[in-house]
Formats: sequence, C-alpha cells, structure tokens
Amino acid sequence: MSPFNNQPAGKTGHEDILWNPEIIQYMETWADVPKPETAKLEGIFSKAPTIGGYTPVVPEVIVAFDGSLYEASADQHEPSRRVGYIKVGMVALNVQKYQSLSDRNMPFVDPMAVNRLQEQNAISMALPSAYLKEKDYDSIREGYRAAIFRHYSSDNTRIGTDKHTMLDTVIDLLRINHAVVNDGGLEVTILPSCPSEDNVCKEQNVKVSLVGKSACPACKTSLFVTDTLRVWECFSEFSSNLESFNRLMLATEGIVLAHSLLFFKRTNQLSILSNFAFVMDGPLSISGEAAKFHAPIMSLINQLQIDMIAQKLAPPLIMGLTKTGMSVEHFMVRKEAVPDGIAFPLTDEYRYTNIVGGNVRTRPFGEEFYYGQDVLLKTDEGRQFLISLPYPWDSKQEQGFKKNRFDLTHYRNVDTAIGIINMFQSDLYENSMVPVILAHEYASISLTPGGKILDLVTARALGAA
Ligand SMILES: [Zn+2]
Repeated sequence: MSPFNNQPAGKTGHEDILWNPEIIQYMETWADVPKPETAKLEGIFSKAPTIGGYTPVVPEVIVAFDGSLYEASADQHEPSRRVGYIKVGMVALNVQKYQSLSDRNMPFVDPMAVNRLQEQNAISMALPSAYLKEKDYDSIREGYRAAIFRHYSSDNTRIGTDKHTMLDTVIDLLRINHAVVNDGGLEVTILPSCPSEDNVCKEQNVKVSLVGKSACPACKTSLFVTDTLRVWECFSEFSSNLESFNRLMLATEGIVLAHSLLFFKRTNQLSILSNFAFVMDGPLSISGEAAKFHAPIMSLINQLQIDMIAQKLAPPLIMGLTKTGMSVEHFMVRKEAVPDGIAFPLTDEYRYTNIVGGNVRTRPFGEEFYYGQDVLLKTDEGRQFLISLPYPWDSKQEQGFKKNRFDLTHYRNVDTAIGIINMFQSDLYENSMVPVILAHEYASISLTPGGKILDLVTARALGAA
C-alpha cells in the first residue's frame, strides 16, 4: 500500500466539515448509503461455504510483494522541481524454519532470526516529475517514458542467472494478449495514440518495435514498448505526479508477479514453484491506465497452473490480501454478523446491494481490472481477511467465468490460502499477516537506514517490542 493511499486526507478530511449545515442537508437529502439489516446479512453468511471442509496446507516458501512510492522536491531552492521514487519490495519467508522458531514455546520469536530466514529483493525506480527534464530527451514526459523503459529493461530486473528482464515479461504479456503483430517481418505493438509531450500530435495507431528504437512518424518523439503501460497519460510536466506513480507502482507489482512466475517456467523449475505461495498487496487487479494487463496476467496464471496440474505438480497459491478500503471497512463494522470459519466469495449482488449502493450492474464488477475473486475469510479464531484468488479461467469471455466465478469449489489453492492465513494471522495487525507486514516494511521508503526500521517492525509484528 502506498503512502499515496495512506496519506492523511488533508483539509477535506477534517471532521469539522460534518457539522457544516450544508453538508448535513446534503447527506440527508441526497446520500443513499446502503444500511443492510444485520438479520439479512446473517442469512446470507449462513449459506456461505465453511472452511471446515478444507484441510489447511502450508507452502514451503511465501513470497510477499508490496510497493511504495515517494515524490520529493529535487531542489530545495526551487521546490516545484520534483523527483519520484517507486520501490516494489519482495520478501521470501521460509515457512518451516519460521515455524521451528515459533514452536519453541518462547514468549516471542527472535526478530533477528526471522530476518535471517528472509530473502529480500526490490525493484527500485527513480523517476523525473514536474520540471525535471532528462538531458537526452526533448520533454519532461518523454524523459519519464524513457526512465520507465530503462528501469524495466535493466539487468537489475533479471532473476538469478536467467537473462530475461521485466521488459521481456511485458512483451510476453503483450503476446498473450494478442497485442504483438508482424509488420513486414518486424514484430511491433501498436499504441492507440502518440504519447508525445504536449499531446498535440494527433498520430494514431503508432507502431512500436519490440526490439531497437522507434519514433512517431509525425512528431519524431521516441517510442518505448513500456509506453503500453500508458501511465504517461496522467503524467503532468508541471505538477505533482503521485497519481501516475501510483498507477505505475500497481502495474509494476502485477508485472513483477508475472515476471517471477515466468522465471520458474523459463528455467524449467516448476517443481520448485510448486512449493511457493505468492501474496500480493491488495486485490488481484491492475487498475487505471495499465488495466488491460490484467487479462494476460489472468491467462498466464491459469495456464501455468493447468500445466503444473498436468505434470502432477501442485500449482502455487497466488493470493491478494486487501488491508484497507470500503469492503474491508464494511466487513469490520459488521464483524458480529459474520460467523467464524467461513469463506464467502463477494458476489456482485452483495457488493452493489450492501456496500456500493445502487442497482446491480449487468457487467461484472472489476471487469476491466480484476484478475481474481474477492473472498471474505473468517478464521475459527474470529479474524477476518479479505483475500483474492485468481479466476481459474483463461479469459472473462469463458462461460465458466460468467456462470461460476462466485462458486468457491472452482478455485484452486483454497486449502493453502486457509493454511497460511491460519498460520500467520496477527494479533497486532488486523487484516494483515506477518509476511505481508515484512514486505510492506521492506518496501517502505524511509530516509533512515531501512534495516533498522525492518528490525523494529519485525519485532513489533512478532510481539517482541
Ligand atoms: Zn507523434
């Protein structure tokens, strides 16, 4: 979760506004906020699948991802000149060793010992923002697009000895999405419009070569394969770019997941992948300008899992964990109505009737950005988690998706999701669990040395401080 999402809401968040007579009148006259009756919700939850029918499974390794972003003044005398920084942290935790630490009947787990069980890695990106033009490019936005390309194609994104960069993964996802075409013997992908600096170039359907350099035929601006992420669309050359950075961070989290999964496939290590679980921060979705990448990620996960099952390998759990937001708040407020030990897939009907308000839409919720189904999981100990499991279909056009996406029996790895939630549920952090807290703290951008913060928070998470 980014500081962008967590930052104080500023002036408009002030409670005083609720006492403003115009606001009171507005709320009474116009607001139509769902107020579902407890008895009605209890009726719905009483029909939810129980987790008692599943045998919890614990994977050997949990990899948790989390991103954070920061924007700062690049010059203290000209503070409007700004620079951005995005970090997507990955923490891999060896579960057996972790268990052996916590089984020793100690009042708390030694945080340094936990740190030794972790493998940490991160994708970091320094980016231009307002009034910060890169010297090799004609405009601020062109420099931003170039910086994204440079980071994605960097050797730093290679995993182990594998030669593939994140750019290769973007290209693989474009291929899965049928967005690569042959143009006279050259493979290209097509941008609907030219991403030029001031949006005055009207060129449409510009071709971007998958290898080498490309330029817009009309305005000659440089074109990059990573322009397909389209986060430049909400980039501003003269003001803060938290929105664009947030979009880029969320897209990068999803692409890092795909990159990690493809690593095991490219290096023929699916039997190792079988022991892994991946936990993403937030729902399984890519929102905003890069949303179309949700579709190839959904397809990639499903195909990989099907291939592994065919090879008699257990597919890895891929799970989103949503810690904040309207749905989490909704269920927290109504915790008493939710029985212990259930796994309730959030139907569109439930969401629109009880959370969002208004009529149930005919198009699936999150059609353009979700690649997983939200499931409310309440443990036998009474702790609630809003998790997300990948849709087990190649595309949303399939009948299976349309008919069965709210039926938990179609989903894979429910047993593993229950296993790791049971094991890592934290008394100290509602809605979260230890590996996710570690990833979050690792990803957090701090001006003090990162290791110290990690030690402290790890200790706190494990009850030592
Ligand atoms: Zn152009």
